[in-house]
Amino acid sequence: MIAKLKEVSTAPLPCKICSAEAALFGVVDFAKHCNEARRGRLPLLGRPVYYHRCQVCGFLFTDAFDDWSDANFKADIYNDGYIEVDPDYREVRPTNSAKLVQHFFGARKAELRLLDYGGGDGLLSATLRACGFLEAQTFDPFVADFARPPQEKFDIVTCFETLEHMPDPMAGIAAIASSTKEDGLVLFSTLVQPPDFEMHGVNWWYVGPRNGHVSIFSRTALVLAWQHHGYQTASFNDNLHMAFRTLPEFARHLLKQA
Ligand SMILES: [Zn+2]
Repeated sequence: MIAKLKEVSTAPLPCKICSAEAALFGVVDFAKHCNEARRGRLPLLGRPVYYHRCQVCGFLFTDAFDDWSDANFKADIYNDGYIEVDPDYREVRPTNSAKLVQHFFGARKAELRLLDYGGGDGLLSATLRACGFLEAQTFDPFVADFARPPQEKFDIVTCFETLEHMPDPMAGIAAIASSTKEDGLVLFSTLVQPPDFEMHGVNWWYVGPRNGHVSIFSRTALVLAWQHHGYQTASFNDNLHMAFRTLPEFARHLLKQA
């Protein structure tokens, strides 16, 4: 039995990024997840999840889970069944992310302190520590061992496949920013809406309430969200991005690739 979802608002909601009007845009069953192409669909649960979309910045979001506690999320989304709908969570993603971070920053690893925000079981930061980064810590509110909010500020904050899980992405970005040094770098991934997004609507594969995808960025929304916190962004592709106030020297070589 899934916890109560917030009652749907038929009136436009303020966009969670830019506060402009976001009208109802589409509805999917709670069972819809991002791994349907590989694992197939789950049985429908009869629990509709409505998404709103901002007419100005294109941000797509649901407020259905906005009243949920962390305990609700743990019970109904980040539970034992989660690995079925996000099979790369435990190993494939952190392993690939570690390779990417080493590729980008390996030459300076002995002087860099890194935080992996939303880092799950901590495999990414453990891998980076083992290969010689000065420091690598994990924060993840849904993993007991790593749920203590970080106290320091870091040279690099990584945040892979996490922003789309945030019911309050502006608060999430503020938290990431507060853990980043003034001249630090945020390296993050979240897939932005494709140019033909309107053709797919909420049927787009990346919209998946069962695996917690509640905030789906357009490129404009991504830029605005970080700008609001004083950050510039640069994208390597539709999925991989970086954000910074002043581009740190150790990341200058990346601008050529972004
Ligand atoms: Zn907006």
